[in-house]
Formats: sequence, C-alpha cells, structure tokens
Amino acid sequence: LEPPFDVGGRPFRLTASAGVAHAADSEDAEELIRRADVAMYRAKEQGGDRIVMDDEAMRDEVTARLRHEAELRTAVEGDGLEVHLQGEWSLPDRRLLGAEALARWRRPDGDLVAAGSFIPLAEECGLIHALGTRVLSETCDVVAGWMAQDRHDGFSVRVNLSPLQLRQDELADQIAGVLETSGLPAEHLCLELTESALLDDPERALRVLGSLRDLGVGLAVDDFGTGYSSLLYLKRLPVTSLKIDRAFVSGLPDDAADRAIVAAVVRLADEMGFDVTAEGVETEEQATTLVELGCVRAQGYLLSRPEPADDMAVRLDR
Ligand code: C2E
Ligand code: MG
Ligand code: MG
Repeated sequence: LEPPFDVGGRPFRLTASAGVAHAADSEDAEELIRRADVAMYRAKEQGGDRIVMDDEAMRDEVTARLRHEAELRTAVEGDGLEVHLQGEWSLPDRRLLGAEALARWRRPDGDLVAAGSFIPLAEECGLIHALGTRVLSETCDVVAGWMAQDRHDGFSVRVNLSPLQLRQDELADQIAGVLETSGLPAEHLCLELTESALLDDPERALRVLGSLRDLGVGLAVDDFGTGYSSLLYLKRLPVTSLKIDRAFVSGLPDDAADRAIVAAVVRLADEMGFDVTAEGVETEEQATTLVELGCVRAQGYLLSRPEPADDMAVRLDR
C-alpha cells in the first residue's frame, strides 16, 4: 500500500490500520472479530498506519468500559440520574440569586458520582442528549414550581449544555418545548456553554445560539478563559454572561496574575453588558477580594455546595 499512486496527475498515498486478535481454544468467531475490531480502533487512535495486537489489558479495559457505559445508560434511562443545585450568591449581602443545575449519578450501591466523572463518557457514547434533556426538564419543573408558590420571584437557574447538543439544529425547539411544558419563563433560564462549543462548526453553533437567544433564555460562557476561543467569538456570540473559572479564583488574594485577570474580565463583562460570576469560591479572603475587584456574583463551597432541590428549597424561605 505504501508507494504513492497517481490519480489524474496528483499523487495519493494510502495508509492502513489493522487490528489482530489471536484465537484461544474455545472462542467463537464473533468474539474474535470484536477483539480484532477493538485493536484496529486502537491502531487508529495511535495515529493510524500501524498494526495493533489485542492483549489482555486491552480486553479488560474494553470490558470495563462497556460495563460502565451500560450502567450509565440504565441510570439515564431509569432513575439513577439526579439533578443537584448549587446556589449562586450576591457576595456583598449573601443573598441567593439563583442556582446552577449539576448532574449527579446515583449508583445502585448508593454512591453519588459528580458530573465531572461521567459527562465525558456520556458524550462519547451518545447518552448526552437524553441526559441533557432530563436535566433541563427536571430543573425547569422544579424552579417553575417554586415560582408558582411565590417562593423567589427573581430566581434564575443555569443549565450546562454540551458542545454536542449545539450540533442539533432542533435544540432551540426542544428547549422551547421544555419551557412551555414546565411553565418557566425563558428569562429565568440561562444556558452555560464552554468555549469549545464553537470549535468544530462555529457557523452552525452561532446559528443555534442565535435561536436560543431568540427564545429569551440567557447564554453564559462557562470556565471563561480556559478554552481555545478567541475574543472574536465573544464579539460574535449572543452571550449574556461570563463565568470566571476557579483556576483564576483559587490564587486570590495573593496571586498578582489572577488578580489582573479577574479585574480585566470583570471590566470586559461590564463594558460589554454581560453579568459576571466567579466560580469555585472557597474562602472568605477570595470573596472579599472578588468584591474589591468588582465581581459581586459568586458560586462555590464557601457559599453552598451542590445539593438536592429539596435542600435548596429550604434556603429560599430564609
Ligand atoms: P461547571 O459547569 O464549571 O461546574 C462547576 C463544577 O465545580 C462542578 O463540578 C461543581 O460541583 C464544582 N464546584 C463548585 N464549587 C466548587 C468549589 O468551591 N470548589 C471546587 N473544587 N469545586 C467546586 P461537577 O458537578 O463535577 O461538574 C463538572 C462539569 O461537568 C461542569 O463544570 C459542567 O461542565 C459539566 N456538567 C455538569 N452537569 C452537567 C449537565 O447536566 N450537562 C452537561 N452537558 N454538562 C454538565
Ligand atoms: Mg457550568
Ligand atoms: Mg465552570
């Protein structure tokens, strides 16, 4: 395969990736082909143009992954998925402004797994769409219920969106449907996306985001400053708020670079008319410094941890 060949006067070069599996005594053909297939994908992952032999470690890894995936699917389709809410607070008067919905996986043994540990898997195996829809509708139902009981009229809730969800042209229609079913007014919902949301098909993402804004929901850039995006995107995106990543908060008050970055982002947000929230605030010193730097909205363990909706509801009545 290696030598280049000529197509209409242009040179082409082919590469091939192969996976090889060896039959043990009692193995059936299907299993053997599946193992060879896994080895072939491994060859591609390693850059292609090579041969990979399947081995015990690879088999164990694949088995573990498949089991993990099946368990997550059962959780998402059944009742193993929970939505926890983490408060967003006004720092100067410690008033609750709203909350962010964070997905949690309740394992059959009772253990609770945080989103950071399973969202990537959900994205890889296509479960993120079902998961996203469930988190969104559960969140909107809960908050709409609070509003109907007059428990907090200004409460705004944030829901994270995966970049994969932005590839769906029908996303805005789906979200409109969820809002309508729950009765939550659109302006009480803000969708969070990371800068990577725009990477693979910026034109489509911008179109989808435009139709989300047309619904009246807010749009926040999550983990601002940690991704690959440029300020050009910020100019083009129909954004309403920025979230300053914990990476820039954790060094406060001493780290001069963190202070400079936070101050600059707050100024940028102000001038562009966005609201700005600091993430991952863990100490009083960080909170004080944030206020000094002009950032009055914050989220973090200092203020409250992610918790079930019933626990958050108790805070509304305080
Ligand atoms: P994120 O949206 O930036 O959420 C903040 C993460 O920081 C959460 O982790 C939260 O539990 C954690 N956190 C909050 N306060 C503090 C603090 O003071 N200190 C520290 N060390 N951590 C804090 P979690 O829940 O594991 O979520 C991780 C990421 O997974 C989220 O980052 C978000 O990008 C994603 N995610 C969460 N829920 C969903 C969801 O429903 N759909 C999608 N697509 N992504 C989600
Ligand atoms: Mg978020
Ligand atoms: Mg974040």
